[in-house]
Amino acid sequence: MSKHYEQYSLYLRKLHQDFIDSWNEKSESNAVLSDFDRYKVLGTGAFGVVYLVKHTSSGKYYAMKALEKEKVVKLKQIEHSYYEKKILCGLNFPFVVYMKYFFKDNVYIYFILPFINGGEMFTHLRRMGKFEETAAKFYGAQVILALEYLHACELVYRDLKPENILIDRTGYIKITDFGFCKWIRGRTWTLCGTPEYLAPEIILSKGYGMSVDWWSLGILLFEMSAGHPPFFASDPMRIYEKIVAGKYRCPGHFTTELKDLISHVLQVDITRRYGNLKDGVLDFKNHKWFKEIDWDNILNSRIHPPFVPKIKSPGDTTNFDPFEEEKIKESPVCLFEDEFADF
Ligand code: ATP
Ligand code: MG
Repeated sequence: MSKHYEQYSLYLRKLHQDFIDSWNEKSESNAVLSDFDRYKVLGTGAFGVVYLVKHTSSGKYYAMKALEKEKVVKLKQIEHSYYEKKILCGLNFPFVVYMKYFFKDNVYIYFILPFINGGEMFTHLRRMGKFEETAAKFYGAQVILALEYLHACELVYRDLKPENILIDRTGYIKITDFGFCKWIRGRTWTLCGTPEYLAPEIILSKGYGMSVDWWSLGILLFEMSAGHPPFFASDPMRIYEKIVAGKYRCPGHFTTELKDLISHVLQVDITRRYGNLKDGVLDFKNHKWFKEIDWDNILNSRIHPPFVPKIKSPGDTTNFDPFEEEKIKESPVCLFEDEFADF
């Protein structure tokens, strides 16, 4: 291990300690809904809606994720939402979002995150068809640093995909959606994620660890450069069959280096998968596909991004797909007070 990497490992160890300290701290809610003016819907999920909001007193824009308690309970996601909150509160890394404020009311729990106004990588990828390999490398390098950070904090992310990767106004990325992220020591068993991005060990109901994030990184590297994921079908069962068989075909335009890297990541056998071997993340950092990448310059945002989103004003939402308005529900009594007492 180089001196430089030893130093970086020490830095990651400090970030891990900061995360543990934040986890052990009892945090008190620090805002209320009426502190914010609500604008457009930025995205919706199974139990949450994300709005663009403006903090009235500071005039700053944020993304507000509102999780409806009733839906969280029905979908048995209380624990996941609790983790999401605790984790967001402890995150501190250039390529991931963090919690600015949080609070709850009778119907919802709310997370207030910085508004990342360049939109989802998903939207840009679909608009452009595919990314040049230099762009895929630029984004891939940031995702690798972010996963290295999360894993150093003993966090498995479990939902890597272009929808959850936002582009900020400078053209760098921020990973959002910690709804499936979990603090684990050892292994875990829960089936969660998105079909195209699921690792074979999750599909096969094996206990799994951080290796599942490296698998989904392999899917992401492929999808960014090809414009479509390596394993796809209209029926999720067919997707799963293809994933566990581990057979895929790279488009002819992929460079030899990219094909080589992907072949080391999309390894069904986790004892052969990059990220999970004795040299850990260094297998990526030293791979020839990344040879022009200066990891330090990426970390410090010193590389000129391949593309900078067009943003007219801090509250500009034109980089997000339009959604229907969603009304905030009200209730005279507090719903599920006990279930969410710890939030
Ligand atoms: P879950 O998977 O937990 O159901 P979800 O997919 O509904 O969550 P998120 O992925 O957190 O929720 O958010 C949905 C969408 O909202 C994102 O894909 C993104 O478009 C938008 N979004 C989320 N966070 C931000 C943010 N900080 N800034 C801008 N847009 C955001
Ligand atoms: Mg999401």
